[in-house]
Amino acid sequence: MQVRKQIAVSGIVQGVGFRPYVYRLATERRLKGSVRNTAAGVVIEIQGAGEAVDDFLTCLPAQAPPLARITGVSVRELPCHGDQRFQIFASQGQEAIRTLISPDVAICADCLRELFDTRDRRYKYPFINCTNCGPRFTIVRGIPYDRPLTSMAAFTMCSACQKEYDDPLNRRFHAQPNACWACGPQVELWDDSGAKLAGEDPIRRAAELLKQGAVVAIKGLGGFHLAVDATNAGAVERLRERKGRVDKPFAVMVPSLDVAETLCQFDEAARRTLSSAQRPIVLLRRRGEAAIAEAVAPRNRDLGLFLPYTPLHYLLLEQGHFSALVMTSGNRSEEPIAIDNAEAVVRLRGLADFFLVHNRDILLRCDDSVVRISEGRTRQMRRSRGYVPVPVFLAEEIPSVLAVGGELKNTICLTKGRHAFLSQHVGDLENPQAYSFFEEAIEHLERVLEIQPAAIAHDLHPNYFSGQWALRQKKLPLVGVQHHHAHIVACMAENHLNGRVIGIALDGTGYGTDGHIWGGELLLAGYGGFECAGHLEYVPMPGGEAAVREPWRMALSYLYRHFGRDFLRLQIPFVQQLDPVKVRVLLQAMERNLNSPLTSSCGRLFDAVAALAGVRQQVNYEAQAAIELEMATDETLAGTGYELEIVEKAGQLIFSTRRLFVELLADVEKTTPAGIIAARFHLALVDALASATETLRQRTQLDRVCLSGGSFNNRFLLEHLQACLRGKGFQVFTHSEVPAGDGGLSLGQALVAAHRVRSR
Ligand code: ZN
Ligand code: ZN
Ligand code: FE
Repeated sequence: MQVRKQIAVSGIVQGVGFRPYVYRLATERRLKGSVRNTAAGVVIEIQGAGEAVDDFLTCLPAQAPPLARITGVSVRELPCHGDQRFQIFASQGQEAIRTLISPDVAICADCLRELFDTRDRRYKYPFINCTNCGPRFTIVRGIPYDRPLTSMAAFTMCSACQKEYDDPLNRRFHAQPNACWACGPQVELWDDSGAKLAGEDPIRRAAELLKQGAVVAIKGLGGFHLAVDATNAGAVERLRERKGRVDKPFAVMVPSLDVAETLCQFDEAARRTLSSAQRPIVLLRRRGEAAIAEAVAPRNRDLGLFLPYTPLHYLLLEQGHFSALVMTSGNRSEEPIAIDNAEAVVRLRGLADFFLVHNRDILLRCDDSVVRISEGRTRQMRRSRGYVPVPVFLAEEIPSVLAVGGELKNTICLTKGRHAFLSQHVGDLENPQAYSFFEEAIEHLERVLEIQPAAIAHDLHPNYFSGQWALRQKKLPLVGVQHHHAHIVACMAENHLNGRVIGIALDGTGYGTDGHIWGGELLLAGYGGFECAGHLEYVPMPGGEAAVREPWRMALSYLYRHFGRDFLRLQIPFVQQLDPVKVRVLLQAMERNLNSPLTSSCGRLFDAVAALAGVRQQVNYEAQAAIELEMATDETLAGTGYELEIVEKAGQLIFSTRRLFVELLADVEKTTPAGIIAARFHLALVDALASATETLRQRTQLDRVCLSGGSFNNRFLLEHLQACLRGKGFQVFTHSEVPAGDGGLSLGQALVAAHRVRSR
C-alpha cells in the first residue's frame, strides 16, 4: 500500500546539510519524492510503503545533522504521484530568506580526521570544513546564506571542490565555505609591521615563536586572539603589561580533554560542554597542582578553559610545543576584538610580536562565549560565538521589537514570532569603538534577520549610550524599561513563564524609578510591569562612580552610616590603613549630600565586605572585589551566617545591614580568616533573601521565584539561595541560555516592549 506525505520542517535546517541528510534517509528506505528549501524551512514529500514512510518520520528528527535544530514538524497526507526517484531541489532566490542562519561551529570529527590524514587532499589545510562544521555567522554579508553573500565569494572553487559542492551525497554538498589548498584561503605569518615572513610552514613557525615566549596575534573565527604560552610566566606577564590588563583572568586553550583534566576538576557536564560544537570557554575549578603560570588567573579558584575549534588551532597545538595557550581577545582592554588583518596590525601594534593571519575575511566580529556549569546545566556568562544567532525560543509569538540592552557587556535583541535573537557580546559602550560596533550589530541583525521592529526598548538610565541612541530614533515608539524589571523578565522569558513572579534581582548598578541606584531588589514582576516589594537599605556612594573602582569607599560608607565617626576608633587594619585626608573629604561629602548618590546595590555591599575582610580595596576590573570575595569563601563552613535584619517601611521589606556589620566587625577584630567572614556574609544574604521571599509568598500567594542580575554569577550565592528556596517549597527559576548579568538585559527589555506593543 503506497502512501504520500508532505512534511514541513522548521528551525535551523538550511546550510547545515539537512537536504543531503533527508536524501539519504529517503533513498535508504526506497522512498520517492523531493526535498526543497522554503521561506519557512524545508519541505519534504515522500512516497512509498506505509511502513517505510512511518520509519522515515521517526528517524527524521532523531538522526538530524548535528547543527540542525528542528523547532517544528508538520505532516499532511497527499494523493500519490508517479515520481521515479528522490530529488533535491535547489534553493531559489528568496526562498531561503526567512530561515535561521547557523552559528559558527567547531571543526567536526570527520574533518578533523581528514586534516591529519596524509592521504587526504586537504591534509593540514587550515580551512577544511563541511556542512557539519565551519564558519557561518561571521562570514555572512547578507541572506540567503549562499556563497556569493559570504566572504568566500572572493574564492572560486577548483573543480574537485565544485564537484563535492554539487553532489547531494557528499558531506560538502552546498557547504558554502568549501575550499582546499588549490582554491581556498591561505595562512601567512607577519612581523609586527605587517611584513610577510618567508618560510614554508607559517603555523609551525608561529608555534616555535610562541614557545620562545613571543606574543602572537592569531586570526580566528570571530576575530583575533593574542596568544602566549600559558606555562611561561614571563610571557604571560608581558602580555598583561602590554594589554594594560592587571588582574582579570585570561582564558586558556588546551589541546585535548585529557590535558584539560590535568588543570581542572571535571564532571560529565563539563566534558560535554567543553567538547560541544559551540566550544565555549568553560569556567572550571582549577586543580591545586595545575601546571600553569600564576599570572594567568591570579587569586582565582577557577580557570577558563576551551578546546581548539578551528583547523588552524588544531594545527598550532599539534606541534606539541605547549600544553596550554593563553588565548585572549585581540584588543586593548575594553575595546572590541580586532577582525581585519590591516586593522589588527595597527590596533595591536605594541601588543603582538607577530601576526598569524589569513585572507578569509571576518565580516562580523564575535568573541568567544564564556559559560559556567551549575547543577549540570550550562550557564551563559558571555553568549557569543557558537550560540549567536540561534534564537532564544519563546513560549508564544510576540510582536517584533528592538531592545538595545544596557551599557556594560551590551547585547541587543530583536524579536520575531517565537524567536528572540540576541546579538553577540558587543562590549562596554562607553568605549567609542564598542559603540560603533553596537550600531553595526543593530544594522546587520535587522538586515540578515529581516526584522522591522515596531518599537525600541531601552534602559531608563539617562547616561547610557544605548538609551541615548534609542532616544535619537525618531520613527519608532520607545519603551523605557527599568533595569531590574528587565533582568527578571529575561529570566521569565527563557523559562517560558507567564503571569507574575517574585523576582530577586541582584547586581552592581541599575537606574531606579526613584532616581537612586538600585541593585538589591525584590520585585513582584510580570511582562506588563512590576512593583517594588523590598530592597537593600540605601547607603551613599561617596564620590559616586569612584566608589565602584574603590571598594574601601563603600566600607567607609556603611561604617559611617551605622557607627558615625566612632568607627575611626576601631582597632582593625581597615581603619588603620585609611588615608585621613581622603576620609575627611568623603565624610564631609556624605554629610552634605555632595556627589554621594544613594544605592541599594548588592555589588556595593559585596565591595564593602571585601574591603573590611582585607580581600580588596581597589579594583582593576568590573566586580573584581565581589569575585575575589566569592573565591576566598570557605565553602566548608557549616552553621549560620551573620544576621541581616529585615524591617518593614511603607509596605516594603528593607534589608538593614547594621547587625550584619556589628557581627562582621567582631569577627574582623578577632582576626577571623577572610574565608570565614566571606562565608558568613554569603549565608546572611541567603537567609535574609529567603525569609523575605517567604513573607512575600504569604502576602501574594506567589510561589515562583526568578533569580537574575550579575550577582548570580556568584555560584556560591546562586546554589545556596536556590537550595534554600527549594527547601521552603518555592519553584526557583534561573538563567541558563542568556547571561544573568547585563548581557541578558536586552531579552527582558524586548519582552516588556513587545507586551506593551501588543496591549496597545
Ligand atoms: Zn566538517
Ligand atoms: Zn578546491
Ligand atoms: Fe544589571
